[in-house]
Amino acid sequence: MDNKDFKEQLAKVEKFHGHLCGGIVMGTKMTMHALEHLGMKLNEKNKDLLVFVEIDRCMADAVQVVSGCTIGKRTLKLMDYGRFSATFYKISAGEGVRITDNDIQNQNEEESKEDLVERLSSTPNEELFSLRKVKLRLKESDFPGKDFSKIVCPICNEIVKDDKYIVRNGVGICKACGEGSYYEYID
Ligand SMILES: [Zn+2]
Ligand SMILES: [Zn+2]
Repeated sequence: MDNKDFKEQLAKVEKFHGHLCGGIVMGTKMTMHALEHLGMKLNEKNKDLLVFVEIDRCMADAVQVVSGCTIGKRTLKLMDYGRFSATFYKISAGEGVRITDNDIQNQNEEESKEDLVERLSSTPNEELFSLRKVKLRLKESDFPGKDFSKIVCPICNEIVKDDKYIVRNGVGICKACGEGSYYEYID
């Protein structure tokens, strides 16, 4: 990997994330590794890429910044698995790679943040990650672009977009009303 490119990307991520840590080194390298594999360029607004990040920790910020994919553009999806992994999917080619962290055996509690950053930065991608080709289970409504669908949930009266509703007794309702929500009203 081009070290100048890595430093440039890492600096960009550090600025966004707010500090330098092992997680952003990992996410920066992982994303660069994937883009290289998919034949995609750095620093380009890429409409041809979907990214599924499997953790909501430091790493995810690096994946976002380096890939240019965001939740708002519907090109970044949080799969809330709590795993240090991500899948990168080139839409036009229908080609996906899932990259996982291979570094588990090297991790120890005593390692300082500085040492971790240094070690991860200098470890070759092939050692740091496993990369496997994957086929994705995608629905038309998963892709960016114009609104896919819109219903009004008859229970809460809120709009539910892009096929995110569930069907109960033949009626489309929102997931919060249908499956229980993360909040409850106290007023
Ligand atoms: Zn961090
Ligand atoms: Zn509802």
